[in-house]
Amino acid sequence: MSLLNRLLVTALPLAPRFIVARVAARYVAGSTLDDALRVVGDLNRQGAMATIDLLGEEVSERDKALAAVDEYLRVFAAIQERGLDANVSIKLTLLGLKIDEGFCRDNVDRIAAAARERGNFVRIDMEDHTCTDATLRIYRELQARHGNLGVVLQAYMRRTLEDIGELPRQGGNVRLCKGIYVEPRRIAWKGHDTVRHNFVRALEKLIENGIYPAVATHDEFLAAAASALIDQHALARDRYEFQMLLGVDRELRDILIAAGHRLRVYVPYGSDWYPYSIRRLRENPEVARHVLRALLAGR
Ligand SMILES: Cc1cc2nc3c(=O)[nH]c(=O)nc-3n(C[C@H](O)[C@H](O)[C@H](O)COP(=O)(O)OP(=O)(O)OC[C@H]3O[C@@H](n4cnc5c(N)ncnc54)[C@H](O)[C@@H]3O)c2cc1C
Repeated sequence: MSLLNRLLVTALPLAPRFIVARVAARYVAGSTLDDALRVVGDLNRQGAMATIDLLGEEVSERDKALAAVDEYLRVFAAIQERGLDANVSIKLTLLGLKIDEGFCRDNVDRIAAAARERGNFVRIDMEDHTCTDATLRIYRELQARHGNLGVVLQAYMRRTLEDIGELPRQGGNVRLCKGIYVEPRRIAWKGHDTVRHNFVRALEKLIENGIYPAVATHDEFLAAAASALIDQHALARDRYEFQMLLGVDRELRDILIAAGHRLRVYVPYGSDWYPYSIRRLRENPEVARHVLRALLAGR
């Protein structure tokens, strides 16, 4: 990333919200469930599957977590009614993890039960390292009960290879990504190539352990490495998938689909768009150009 981009990214939290909103609009489907369903319909027509995420995190009030559960129940109903090819992704801190782990587990339990009734699936996103142990605990317990959950592991975490070894193999389902949170070096690899190397090792271990991998990356190097591993292990088309974020590298998405891979796009929606958008902008190598354009358009 250029120096200018890095400076801008550091200063982004100081920027007026309307600028962040304008630059980050590409990453978010909109503020309502209807917005998300419209985007998912378009993606399905383009040959991509979707995972719908209700934006929001770090809630400290039980009512907000319960409202999020109700919203997810509406999402499953809408997916079924419209015949969409989509599942959901959830964040445990939206569902009350920082209030009480048991309360959060019960909320996820309700979501997973509703998903199972409708033949759907729930992916538990991975947040920062203060959530890792609890996330894996909740995943293991509820996966054993419902059988329709998946979790996320981050290649930048030094513990990831060990975590894979401790996951249930039967019916396991892991989204593998590099990881987006700013973690201390003591627990997370920092070098770009080191993280790539750990990603490939982790993917190999998931495949060897018979765990369904969802390869979540826009890094062409990793997409190529994953394709090679998929070939080498002769994985059937329905035994893995690629995943990408809404608003990032449409061209690579089309290339992977044209090559015959199944690909799922992460579709976030809701009014609590700010923290998610800041994280996405931090990773955009062209953020300076976009911010400049938004500033000029705003005059
Ligand atoms: C479906 C999905 C779900 C995810 N879930 C989680 C999760 O639960 N927990 C978690 O910690 N992380 C999650 N992530 C984020 C992930 O950890 C990475 O931070 C993110 O995907 C960027 O890593 P990369 O592999 O694309 O490589 P990078 O090296 O960051 O990106 C490769 C290239 O992709 C393009 N690119 C990447 N990001 C952007 C962007 N925001 N805007 C514009 N261009 C971009 C650039 O051209 C860049 O050079 C998820 C990612 C995906 C795709």
